[in-house]
Amino acid sequence: MSTQQGSPSRLGLVFNIQRFSIHDGPGIRTVVFLKGCGLRCRWCSNPESWNAYEEIVTNDLRCTRCGRCQQVCPVNAITVDEKGRKLDRGLCNRCLQCADVCPTGALAATGKWMSVDEVMEEAAADDLFYQNSGGGITLSGGDPVQQADFAVELLKACKRRGFHTAIETSGFAEWGILERLLEHTDLVLYDVKHMDPEKHREGTGKTNELILENARKAAARRRLWVRVPLVPGYNDSEENLKATARFAKEIGAAKVSLLPYHAWGASKFEKLGRRFTLQDLPGPTVEQIERCRQTVQAAGVTTTVGR
Ligand code: SF4
Ligand code: SF4
Repeated sequence: MSTQQGSPSRLGLVFNIQRFSIHDGPGIRTVVFLKGCGLRCRWCSNPESWNAYEEIVTNDLRCTRCGRCQQVCPVNAITVDEKGRKLDRGLCNRCLQCADVCPTGALAATGKWMSVDEVMEEAAADDLFYQNSGGGITLSGGDPVQQADFAVELLKACKRRGFHTAIETSGFAEWGILERLLEHTDLVLYDVKHMDPEKHREGTGKTNELILENARKAAARRRLWVRVPLVPGYNDSEENLKATARFAKEIGAAKVSLLPYHAWGASKFEKLGRRFTLQDLPGPTVEQIERCRQTVQAAGVTTTVGR
């Protein structure tokens, strides 16, 4: 486990590599999840991706109260007593020493610094599957624009191997940064969470003007799918779906993917010491999803659910 702080050059901070994905672009793909995101979506299923640095995740059920973490913590951020182990994140300086000594994974670090070669070694293992299925590599996160130098080098390495490349992005970045990634990208999976700027800010922490402007530019350069996380009561109104469909059509998106909300990220929020605010929100029903699909499709844009 690394205890490195800061951002070593030529390394990327990866929090997951998922092989055999069929939901993140065409064919069978390897998805490389990079840490760092400019948005803070309330429904996020990967909140461990938000910060572009290593951080501690807790798993209280695994704690045996052995006290090793408390002994090594240089800033007394950990207390262990008969009630369990407590972590004061306000004091924690993310040295990760507790994760190094915890024998059970009750304290662990999320994020691993990896070189392009290390990622490519894992990704290349499924070369035949990519060839046979029309698949490839997808950079996700977080948002790969947050680690642009590493993402560009990784995309270049993929292209040298002849792999199809996709990026999943919120588009929340200076255009020049996104443009650098697009040079080596075949397909852009572009999130559009809400068409109304203020509602967008309510759900994600940022307004959407830059995002929509970048979507327009990106679609003019690369094949692009608009992806909409379908969050009941937030962005599934007929008005918003019609506006999203009109926008997708106008910019020439190849399709709109509707991704039904689920609360899978809720427990991760807790393990990162954050508050999940949508605990009472059920995911959309099959009927609601179909109604949304028909609304978008009616605007004359190909619409899929779940991928
Ligand atoms: S990561 Fe935080 S809690 Fe863990 S040992 Fe370092 S300062 Fe203490
Ligand atoms: S080292 Fe791990 S198992 Fe031991 S008290 Fe700390 S969190 Fe619990």
